[in-house]
Amino acid sequence: MPEGHTIHRLAEDHLARFGGRPVRVSSPQGKFSDSAALLDGRVLDAVDAHGKHLFLGFGGTGWVHIHLGLFGKVGFGGAPAPPPTDTVRLRLVSPAAHMDLRGPTTCALITDPEKRAIHDRLGPDPLRARDDGTGDDGEKAWARISRSRTTVAALLMDQKVIAGVGNVYRAEVLFRHGIDPYRAGRELRRAEWDAIWADLVALMREGVRNNRIDTVRPEHTPEAMGRPPRVDDHGGEVYVYRRARMACLLCGGEIRTETLAARNLFWCPGCQRA
Ligand SMILES: [Zn+2]
Repeated sequence: MPEGHTIHRLAEDHLARFGGRPVRVSSPQGKFSDSAALLDGRVLDAVDAHGKHLFLGFGGTGWVHIHLGLFGKVGFGGAPAPPPTDTVRLRLVSPAAHMDLRGPTTCALITDPEKRAIHDRLGPDPLRARDDGTGDDGEKAWARISRSRTTVAALLMDQKVIAGVGNVYRAEVLFRHGIDPYRAGRELRRAEWDAIWADLVALMREGVRNNRIDTVRPEHTPEAMGRPPRVDDHGGEVYVYRRARMACLLCGGEIRTETLAARNLFWCPGCQRA
């Protein structure tokens, strides 16, 4: 499942390719046809992202709410668009570009109040934080984490607690702060949470910029350590994610893996202590 940085990047990419001009909207697969007919020829004038939810705004007509889920895919291409296959749920076409959405969990036309209701049930998103202090901050997440008996690794994956963090960022941010993933939320100290939130803001912004997840500090890059770069279809340099049974870059101990909150958790028992 894509993590939040991918969705925020998709929002930017849609605005760059289709923003401010009329867009041809269709649903070759048919499941979104009625809504596509309402949107066809209207101007895409806003985009938004919150966690793993993407919103494409068409003025007074409403928002297209997209959640990719496990299998959804967005594909951008040039113009003219090739004939669509019947797996395309949503197609956008401009004179210069096209976009095909396939296999999303959600693709629905919603109103402003319906969009607000989605925001209300999601936790704060590190990518919605603003440098001037407006936007999301870690307070709402801390209020829930600090009184929870649930493990911090599970809390970080709970989109109602914090939105946009997925399996890679949760493993990596806990490693970077030396926190045992099995610690209960209420055993986390306030200063630790503030550091985790600030780190997620920085790491995920970099993820949007580079369109991949890199979490190693400058002294642990392949160049700095004289080691070969990581080979993995996720790309990016990381400390523990998908490095089970390999040597920790810091302590040399063995990285471990176990299933937690339905996903594989990775951590270094040597560096991450209770
Ligand atoms: Zn280690």
